[in-house]
Amino acid sequence: MSFDSLGLSAELCRAVAEQGYTEPTPVQRQAIPTILEGKDVMAGAQTGTGKTAGFTLPLLQRLGERQINGRRPVRALVLTPTRELAAQVGASVSDYGQHLPLRSAVIFGGVKINPQIEKLRHGVDILVATPGRLLDHLSQKTVDLSKIEILVLDEADRMLDMGFIRDIRKILALLPKNRQNLLFSATFSGDIKKLADSLLNKPVHIEVARRNMAADSIDQTVHPVDRKRKRELLSFLIGSQDWRQVLVFTRTKHGANKLAQQLERDGLSAAAIHGNKSQGARTRALANFKQGEVRILVATDIAARGLDIDQLPHVVNFELPNVPEDYVHRIGRTGRAGNEGEAISLVCVDELKLLRDIERLIKREIPKVTVPGYEPDPTIQAEPIGSKRQGGNLRHDRGRRAHGNSANTSHAQRKPSRKPSGAKGAAASSTGNNPKEGTGRKGKPQAAAHQQRTASSQRNERPSLLGGKR
Ligand code: AMP
Repeated sequence: MSFDSLGLSAELCRAVAEQGYTEPTPVQRQAIPTILEGKDVMAGAQTGTGKTAGFTLPLLQRLGERQINGRRPVRALVLTPTRELAAQVGASVSDYGQHLPLRSAVIFGGVKINPQIEKLRHGVDILVATPGRLLDHLSQKTVDLSKIEILVLDEADRMLDMGFIRDIRKILALLPKNRQNLLFSATFSGDIKKLADSLLNKPVHIEVARRNMAADSIDQTVHPVDRKRKRELLSFLIGSQDWRQVLVFTRTKHGANKLAQQLERDGLSAAAIHGNKSQGARTRALANFKQGEVRILVATDIAARGLDIDQLPHVVNFELPNVPEDYVHRIGRTGRAGNEGEAISLVCVDELKLLRDIERLIKREIPKVTVPGYEPDPTIQAEPIGSKRQGGNLRHDRGRRAHGNSANTSHAQRKPSRKPSGAKGAAASSTGNNPKEGTGRKGKPQAAAHQQRTASSQRNERPSLLGGKR
């Protein structure tokens, strides 16, 4: 099936061809004709399915069909939960709309507002925004939403998770009643359904197979390992298999920073990306990673949300997420648009319940492969997630400040699934029982040292280790 058979104009088909797309993805096949007909849509699709083009292409076509003379009012509004996603959607709008005489702007917090005001003043047809900064503009009357024809809520579940519901409702109240509404969400909780009921008018439901669930193109593996040896194992995997581009997830901002520093000390170029970093630092880290200058990007769930990195070959869960759905989002960074990908989870005894929850959600068991030399010590006791002994902190990257929309009022944050406690006794036994802990801190990088120790046996066992997973 081709793009023009979906009813897209020559200009849009040309732009799509220039992106190198030859065939529409399943969500595009369903969404494009429906949106072109002017219908409301409720789509279950996550990042990696091609959903952005699924709503952007028909949106551009509909706006392009009717040119506005004189001062341009904003006619389409796309709301996204994070700055990164806003920037990416904005880039897609520019790419796909390059042969159309439409103007777009992206507005999000954490950067100066004046250039955004200037851009809006000149008139834009399509506005991509995060809710907080959009409310800033609305309160300063630097944007007018009274002529909106199409509203898109992208990653609506994430927006609700991040506590944006009040902001969204405030924004909705300012839109004209007569408009087309498109809601994209990876999951459908009761809250999303409630929002959809109040927002959508006889919506067409689109559900693409959760490709991350089917995950045919994503090879998932769990490496059981002691909590204190995760970093060493990660360095070893990256070094021994010569991974060039790895996205690594940690639960906390502090954990992301610490891990990136430790990897650097192991001689591996790494950068951390999370909500406490300035927008400039985040953009730079991402650009360096995409260009191959930084080999490892360590990210928290929020920071990584919606990151569009093509053909990312390796995703590592350094720590499992507290929320099982986040596992699906995380591994969705790899194996995108039909490319092969590998998702590896380093799982210690503390995380076995989280692993069971994830396996229940994805309805499959993830193969467990113990890496020789990194066998978990069976005497180590589980500790509550987030305890000090684990090196984690409790400031989970869930707060809205983490998303840079500093103008918003405070909102509910998702709580860590368990309460912390200082389980000192258990940790002492773990240290006592693991002679390898702490080796390699000074002098030679730990992974390299360990690699030398086990290199020959590893090389022999590698194929069965990673090849025979399923
Ligand atoms: P999205 O789900 O919108 O984040 O898109 C995921 C990735 O798929 C992006 O890198 C897009 O550039 C890419 N993509 C979107 N549509 C297609 C297509 N029809 N063929 C190949 N790649 C696509």
